[in-house]
Parts: sequence; structure tokens; C-alpha cells
Amino acid sequence: MQTPARLITLLTSGLFLFNTGMTQFLEEPEAAKHREREIERLADLFKASGKSSASGQNIDVTYYELKIWISPPTRSISGTVRVVAATTVDSVSTVRFDLSSACIVDQVTVDAQAATVLRGTSNFDVVLPSVAQQSGTTLTFDIAYHGTPSTSGFGSFAFSQHGIITTPWVWSLSEPYGAPDWWPCKDNPGDKADSLDVWITCDQNLKVGSQGKLVSVLPEEPGTVTTHWKHRYPISTYLVSLAITNYSVITDWFVYSPTDSMMILNYVLPEDSVTARPVLALTVPMLHIYSDLFGLYPFVLEKYGHATFGWGGGMEHQTMTSIGGYGENLIAHELAHQWFGDMITMKTWPDIWLNEGFATYSVALYLEQRYSNANYRSYMNSQMLSAKNATGSIHVSDTSSVSNLFNGSLVYAKGATVLHMLRHVVGDSVFFSALKSYATDPQFMYKNASTADFQSVFELVSGQDLDWFFQQWIYGQGYPQYQFQWGWVPEGQEEKVRLSLSQVTGTSPSFFTMPVDIRIYGGGTSASFSVFNDSLSQTWVWSVPFVPDSISIDPENWILKTAVGILVGIDDVGKKPSSFVLDQNYPNPFNPSTVIRYAIPERSRVTIEIMDLLGRRVAVLEDRDLGEGRYQVQWRPEGATGMYVYRMTATPLARPYEPLVQSRKMVYMK
Ligand SMILES: [Zn+2]
Repeated sequence: MQTPARLITLLTSGLFLFNTGMTQFLEEPEAAKHREREIERLADLFKASGKSSASGQNIDVTYYELKIWISPPTRSISGTVRVVAATTVDSVSTVRFDLSSACIVDQVTVDAQAATVLRGTSNFDVVLPSVAQQSGTTLTFDIAYHGTPSTSGFGSFAFSQHGIITTPWVWSLSEPYGAPDWWPCKDNPGDKADSLDVWITCDQNLKVGSQGKLVSVLPEEPGTVTTHWKHRYPISTYLVSLAITNYSVITDWFVYSPTDSMMILNYVLPEDSVTARPVLALTVPMLHIYSDLFGLYPFVLEKYGHATFGWGGGMEHQTMTSIGGYGENLIAHELAHQWFGDMITMKTWPDIWLNEGFATYSVALYLEQRYSNANYRSYMNSQMLSAKNATGSIHVSDTSSVSNLFNGSLVYAKGATVLHMLRHVVGDSVFFSALKSYATDPQFMYKNASTADFQSVFELVSGQDLDWFFQQWIYGQGYPQYQFQWGWVPEGQEEKVRLSLSQVTGTSPSFFTMPVDIRIYGGGTSASFSVFNDSLSQTWVWSVPFVPDSISIDPENWILKTAVGILVGIDDVGKKPSSFVLDQNYPNPFNPSTVIRYAIPERSRVTIEIMDLLGRRVAVLEDRDLGEGRYQVQWRPEGATGMYVYRMTATPLARPYEPLVQSRKMVYMK
């Protein structure tokens, strides 16, 4: 959880600052409001700028090298970015790169020959000195540039300060579209470079965190040093990062075999080191748990670690997550991204749930493995509560809006809920084996994947066609709102129970097909059944060896849903009422509460009022439009004991001139 104190510090520093759904944790109400405002504002900005990079469509990037000199006092950077790429079509004469207009391109060479640059507002075209005739031609671009990076999204590049004696604090957070705010690139998550080198020159008193292995820190001009980070795994541009200040270093080891281990390297603010240490230590058990579930940590030949940055949440920068606080769930969420997000990156932004839904769900899996199934349940129950607020489809259609892309209740909470539901649909053993198959599939490892790719792995491993599941939950909207009726009657030594299930859903889909668990309780015990609900108004019959007193639809909360139901005579289960009926309340006389049941044969405005014997209205229990069906309402009086009258007025919407009134008496006893 983010502390308000930190939030205030950051607000007064004038940076873009807010929690997005990028991490899941509780927010202070003020922080949440602030976040909403910022996201709305940013959404507008993004819509206005129509972000969609069309750069580099004729090349495949294989390598990036960033050599950047950073000057906090002047808030400026300058440097050279080398891009090695192969052409993907014949006769390439021009290649486009992304770069914010805040940065100036000084010079570009292609294979060491000067090239002409045509500057656009958010990109530039390099005219090749000679046309690359053959597809597959390797080109080396050296792009010299300088400027004061612009800031977009969640604060793509920040010159900041921290501490009492204010120390420069420079950090980046490029997701989703901010890499070109500070370095020229082909900003497309679907084109990963095979490797990366980062060379940063800055004040000798500052430490620089970035991707891969720390190769060297060498003195430059007086007072400065150059830090070299080398990363030999494929990487998308939005996962390249810098974090620079006078960090304290906290290290740990992930011993992943009897003979091998990997360093965990944490760069934390000196003033945070005491608070940070015990939480960061949890990275070790987390790495073991995730490596067991998803396959060995994907960048094990290099490192994992964290660097504190000035943004309230966390960001899964490859091999070195940036974090704004030290929370167990935050650390677990960002670590899971190293598999889902970094090693396997969504092919295109509409599939962002493959990153965020997975990282969110992975926290639940971590809690289950480390603590208990109850911890998993409680985490998922809160995600499911949030998921009910989601509107739209998990597959994001408008990716120009940051608020859509990082919608906490939709992409994160409902995305995680889909995996939770999928687990129950295919069963634990298939689920965990399919999840590992996906995470270790050479088609996707260190590459990209789409929802269809993920679906295909689950279909292969389970041997089931799961299109119905993905269509309704990923491309569809909403969730089922179940209505049920049940009744029972003695039959021989047992009790016969009948249940009918229907659902009110939206239009897309109009029906959710799901396996649904049913549990019948009574006599201090229960009986469980599973049904496959694939059509409207299905009815099932079971026998149980006890007198039932209640029934639960999906008792373990595997399905994102609501469920309301009513007990009726067994012959009425699943039957539409033929007339307006107001039943005698039960129990009667009563104390402290009673239930009133009624039936509506057609859509009507229904009010149920309670009057005392002097005709004064003491309560209104219903006042709403209801469809045909059987209903019940409970009353718990607050006034005096004695006799009351309850009255139902039902006005058919089709015949408003024919209201129907029924009333009955009941006794509230001492
Ligand atoms: Zn995330």
C-alpha cells in the first residue's frame, strides 16, 4: 500500500504521479481520486495524440545500444543509440524511428555513412545512403541526439530529487508508449531486440540500475563515471529502463540448483534500507515458487532485482523492477511479470491482460503456495469484487487510452478472475500443466503471444475446445446473474431436490456457458453436485439423505457472478407463475424476522408495504419493476409487537390501468 506521505512528496514535486492499476493494492481514497483524474486527463492527451507507432515496419530490430550522458542540473541528456536491424522486405530506401519532438536528432549514420534525416513530430525518417535491395540486409544505424526528455503516460522520464540533502534521482517508466520520450527506437512490443547494452555516464556519486549484468563502472571526465549494463536476452522497448541516484545496495542469492545461483541485486534509497530489507528478502521464496510453477526464472544467467523510483506503483523493467514502495504483493506481482510480460510479451496492446491479468493472478498463486488456500481465496475474492465493476471487454479495443489499457477492475482484476475460472473449468492438474506448457513453449518464450496462442496451449493440453470460454470472457462483457428456484419433497428414505437455473445477462454475450457447482445443505451436512449450464432455464433433480434447508450456487466462488434464488413447492420449480400470488408469510407469528413470498406472472411494477392496525404505513419492502418469477423479501420490524397487514400492489407494465392489490395479516410476537 502506498503511504500518503510519499504521495504528498511526489505531488509537490510536480511529477505525473498516481497509482495505476499497474499494481494491485489498496489506495487511500484521495490517492484513488487523484489517480482517476490523472488517468482521465492522460486518456484525453493520448486520444489527442493518436498514439500508434507505424515505425520500422520494414525492419526487424536485433540489437539496441544506448550510450547516454545524463546531466541532472540541466535536466538534459545526450548520446548515441545504435540500432542493428535486418530489412524485412526488398528495396528499402527509408526507415522510420520513433522519437519525441523534445529530442533533437544531431546526426545519423547507416553502416558508418552519413544519412539524411527527415524529422516528423514524434518520429523521423532515415534515408539510406544506398537502397537495401535484398530483404534480410543487415543495417547498423548510429543515431546521435540530445534534449530534455518529454514525459508521457505514467512519467516516462523523470528528473527528480530525494532526501533531506536533495540528491538527484533520475528514473524512467516507458510503458506503454514512452520509450521514444528519451531514446530513438522502433517502439513496438512485437519487435524485440535480441540483446541490449546500456552505457550511462553521470555523476560519480550516483549508481545506475538497468537491464542484465553490470559489466563495469569506469571513470570518465573528472567527477563522472560510465556504467555499463549488458543484457543478452530478447527485450521490448518499453521494458528498457534507467534508475539513478545514490542507492544503497542490498543483495541476496537465488540458489536454483546444487551448483548454481543467481544474484538478486536491489538498489534502494539509503533512507529506505531498513524498511525495504525484510520485504525484498521475500524475493527468494517467490523466485522458487514461480520457478516451480512456470519454469526456471527466465533471466537466470544475469540477475533479478529492484530499484526504487519515484512513482507510487511498480514497473516490471526486465531483470530490474522499479518500485515505489515495499509491499509483498507488489513485489510478487512485478516478479511474475518477468515470465508474463517480459519473457512472453503480449503481441499487441489489446492483449495487455496476458501481462496484467497473469501478474495479478500470480500473486494469488504465490499466496496459496507460500501460505494457504485461504490466502488465495481471500485475495481472489477481493479481485472478483473489483472485477464486477469492470465494463467493456478484457480484450482492449481502444488502446490510445491509458485508462483503458491499465483499467484495474477490467484488465487486472477481471483478467485474473478469468484465469481463476479457467482453473476450475479444466481442473487443477490440467491447469497447472497447461500454464507451465505455455510459459515454457519455445514458440512464445522470449517472444510474443496473443490470446489465441494462450487458448491454443490450453486446448492442446486439456484436449478440450475452449473457444466458448474465451469468447465470452475475453471478448465478451459482463458476467452471469443467476436466478434459481428450488424445492424438495420426501421420496422413500431420501429427499428429492429439484433446481432450476436461469440467468440475466447482457447482450454480448447473451448467455454465459459455465460448469456450476451446487451444494445442498441440511441436517448439519451437505451434498455437492456439478452441472454444466449451457442453456437458459435448465432443471436438475437429485436425491439427498437429509432434509435440505438451503442451497448454494457456486459455493466456493469460482465464477464471477451474482446468484439469487427462492424455495418453492417442488412442482413449481422452473415453472412460470400463472397468476399474481401473495403467500402467507413464514414463520408466522414471528420474531425477530419473517419472509414474504410472492409470484409475478408478467413484468410489473411491484410495491410491498406494511401497515399497522391504524392503517399507518411502517415500511416499504419492495418498490421496483420485476420480471415474471417468484420472489421473496424479508422483514425485520423495528417497532412495537402486534398485528400488521402487508400489501402487494402489482401493476403490469403492459396494462398500467389494471393494478392488482392483495393483502394479508401477520403477527409480530413478543
Ligand atoms: Zn503489472
